[in-house]
Amino acid sequence: MTDSCIFCKIVSKEASADIVYQDPQATAFRDLHPVAPTHILIVPNRHIESVGVLEVEEEPLMGHLFTVARRLAEEEGIAKGGYRLITNTGADGGQTVFHLHVHLIGGQRMRYPMG
Ligand code: 5GP
Ligand code: ZN
Repeated sequence: MTDSCIFCKIVSKEASADIVYQDPQATAFRDLHPVAPTHILIVPNRHIESVGVLEVEEEPLMGHLFTVARRLAEEEGIAKGGYRLITNTGADGGQTVFHLHVHLIGGQRMRYPMG
């Protein structure tokens, strides 16, 4: 837990969010400013700043974030049509919240890149 981190606070329920999934390793909640009909953020419960500090030990955790994304895509009804998973890393990557997260975005046809 990092005191100033909004995603740590959402994980611990100290801050409110529309949480759609939580288990001992990961939490998923709807993005405050959705860019598509489905826009969910999947985060590790433990504070990890970004992909830029990942260690080999975190490989199973990162895989878990992706299987959570796959299950949520099915629940959201966007699995068949397809969806996009994005992990912005660092300022030039567009990262604004420095608690690692995977964006699950779908429900419309995506163009690349988005911005
Ligand atoms: P990044 O730019 O770091 O890849 O993505 C951060 C995302 O977090 C943005 O899409 C932004 O809308 C979302 N976000 C920022 N603060 C909050 C918050 O307090 N609650 C929720 N649900 N989403 C947030
Ligand atoms: Zn955090």
